[in-house]
Amino acid sequence: MQSSVPELIAGICPPHVEVEIFNEKEVDIPLDRHWDLVFFSYLHSYYEHTKVLSTLFRQRGITTVAGGRHAGHFADDVEKYFDAVVIGEPEANVPAVIEDFEKGQLKRRYALPSLGPAAIKPQRYELLDFKLSPMRMSSIEASRGCPFTCNFCVLTGHEKYRYRPVADVIDEIRTKMAFNKNFFGLIDNFFGFVDNNLGGSPKYLRELCEALIPLKKNWGCSLTFNILKDESLVKLMAQAGCRYIYTGLESLNPDSIKAMNKGQNKLSDVDAVIRRAFSNGIILSFGLLVGSDGDTNEYLEKVPQYLADLKHFSITFLGIVCPYPETPFYRQVQSEGRLLPGTISRDYDGYTLCHRPKNLHPSEAAEHFVRLCKQLGSFPNLLRHYSSKLLMSNLPRYRSGILFSGPEILSIRNPVKNPERRYIAGLDSIEAWDAEQMAKLGLEPQRLS
Ligand code: SF4
Repeated sequence: MQSSVPELIAGICPPHVEVEIFNEKEVDIPLDRHWDLVFFSYLHSYYEHTKVLSTLFRQRGITTVAGGRHAGHFADDVEKYFDAVVIGEPEANVPAVIEDFEKGQLKRRYALPSLGPAAIKPQRYELLDFKLSPMRMSSIEASRGCPFTCNFCVLTGHEKYRYRPVADVIDEIRTKMAFNKNFFGLIDNFFGFVDNNLGGSPKYLRELCEALIPLKKNWGCSLTFNILKDESLVKLMAQAGCRYIYTGLESLNPDSIKAMNKGQNKLSDVDAVIRRAFSNGIILSFGLLVGSDGDTNEYLEKVPQYLADLKHFSITFLGIVCPYPETPFYRQVQSEGRLLPGTISRDYDGYTLCHRPKNLHPSEAAEHFVRLCKQLGSFPNLLRHYSSKLLMSNLPRYRSGILFSGPEILSIRNPVKNPERRYIAGLDSIEAWDAEQMAKLGLEPQRLS
């Protein structure tokens, strides 16, 4: 799954505007091309890189606009490197930017209020080029926000849960969505919901699933643990074509769950939840985080054993809990003087420790992270996945999904493939091309501690 922001922004540009989209995960941006107006959306950790691109474009007379969560939170800083900043949702702001730009009256900031979820427009799927990313699937948003309040989450305190009319979502899938025909059609008719939590309202999710059944498509999503405990809803999702769910389990340690304010995760139910999902034909992936305030050396050493002890194994991704600046967790570690010195925005990538955990030395947390990535992303785990899961359901496209999900297990190792990396804020260098350009352009990294 890739970001769908470019197609989303393209979908809200007025019809007379000619649009090209680029996703740097798929293709390099041609820096010698000319555009009138360039919109950037980026993650916190790509701020330095995006500043470089924007500065290079502005030197050639191209107008640049930044949007997204980082741009909205750090508008004062972002304004120095872009011609305009969008704060908040794009549906009202992007057309306003374009209208003002065409009149030669571009403002420095756009912060028009949300138009509500019914204003989310269909994406411009026809601009996707699946050849650039052969395993990519189209994606769609049905909802935004989340009703829970995990302390490390960028949504907490900022966004209420809201959802689009079911009929709009169904119409977009049925009449607008493009599908990837690669791999002999094995992933044709598959798509992903990019919602942070598709299960924020179980009632809405039921209505959506009922409406999806006749479409006979297959899809994946992220949602919270409470939904996985509801057997009838899991069955309905499978009937509606769901074949993949990602859930942030975050930890197998009750103290860590408590420290993260993630009370919706009931650790005693983990095994039953995994069995329920797979036996209903749904591949379940869990995310685990290292470095929370409940983590101890003893717990982190035993994680592989805890996972092995589960009767039913599930794919598990690993990251390091990150104090994003707009979160309660950031405010806590900042007020307690626990942000690591020398933290820059590049360190906010989810694989770099930016704070001092309560019970671990930073180097201990980083060592556990590297070891666990290697252990969990191993061939024995891949074999265990195939051998334990392949025959658990015979729903259409379940088995091909299991085969396709194998590489995800090996990808758990990807973040630790670079032997130069230390995974501790302030100790890892900026990527060589960005560092070289920043030196030439006189750009400084954004310091967050
Ligand atoms: S459940 Fe997920 S999306 Fe919701 S607040 Fe927690 S981390 Fe964020």
